[in-house]
Amino acid sequence: MPLPDSMRAAVYREKCRIEVEERPLPVLGAYDALLRVSHCGVCGTDLHLVVEGWGKPGSIGGHEYTGEVAALGERAEAFSLGDRVVGAGAPGCGSCDYCRSHRPGLCARREEFGAEAFQGAFAEYVRVDSRHLLPVPDALSLRDAALTEPLAVALHGVTLSGVRGAQRALVVGAGPIGTLTLAALRARGVEVVVSEPHPLRRKLAESLGASAVLEPDALVPPAMPFDLIDAPFDTVFECSGTPEGFEAGLAQLRRAGTLVIVGTGMRHPRLDPNRVLLNELVITGAYNYDENGFEDAIALLADGALPVDRLVEPVDAALEELEGAMLDLFEGRIGAKVLVAPST
Ligand SMILES: [Zn+2]
Ligand SMILES: [Zn+2]
Repeated sequence: MPLPDSMRAAVYREKCRIEVEERPLPVLGAYDALLRVSHCGVCGTDLHLVVEGWGKPGSIGGHEYTGEVAALGERAEAFSLGDRVVGAGAPGCGSCDYCRSHRPGLCARREEFGAEAFQGAFAEYVRVDSRHLLPVPDALSLRDAALTEPLAVALHGVTLSGVRGAQRALVVGAGPIGTLTLAALRARGVEVVVSEPHPLRRKLAESLGASAVLEPDALVPPAMPFDLIDAPFDTVFECSGTPEGFEAGLAQLRRAGTLVIVGTGMRHPRLDPNRVLLNELVITGAYNYDENGFEDAIALLADGALPVDRLVEPVDAALEELEGAMLDLFEGRIGAKVLVAPST
């Protein structure tokens, strides 16, 4: 199929405003691939950029994408036209302390995103360094494979928590990353309780195998910092990005328990250092992915180990619907992951 001269793209204009525009096709460098975008997921990061207005006017968001190779630079030899691929984020440098200790997500020389930071995949085409792409196995649809990046994020949090099969976890916040974390934990046999205020998301968490879904008010902290709740958790995943979620979650841990910060937010929690000290709690953040995070995520998805039909909204959004979908996600009116299908 011959390439068009221009493409439609959802361009960030200002806080809460995205416009669909005609843009020239990206120009390819030697190692680049041009993808005809099949699907691109809406991430919490995209919401911060658009709904909270951190974005750069004129930029195109979207980093959770799959597509077919439509053109290749002269040195992008690992792929052929028509190959089905998923964006896999940039690898680390391979030689710093972090890369050598299998934590490439902390590498300072890691480039941002697979696609150029300001030219993402909320568009009909996206330019990507072909070295940051992975093939999608035949058993996996390009639509389902669009969950690869957020699932790799969720798996990284699970890895850092050190949670094991027979243990109990609390997931605070059942938005897209909370539900993916829940599904990944269930796939590993962990018992999961969820806390979530929105009825739609509570229902979704139940259908994904949470053993209980609580209102946030039910997470009552013990009176004294050395006291524990009746059935404390081995690990807590803070996926709400709120200070309330962090403060309530921390107080639900058993001694030597671990809280992993997975959700981001601009308001800061208050920390009870006495609770951390007296119970030897561990607090860590999860940023980026495990060393083989994308491969692990693709394998889980291809295995059919996750209920993708419930993790993703049933109807994909067109580019014109992206702005509205972002507001709905931000306000909690949409429970699951929204995928944009730019060619519809
Ligand atoms: Zn993401
Ligand atoms: Zn490195």
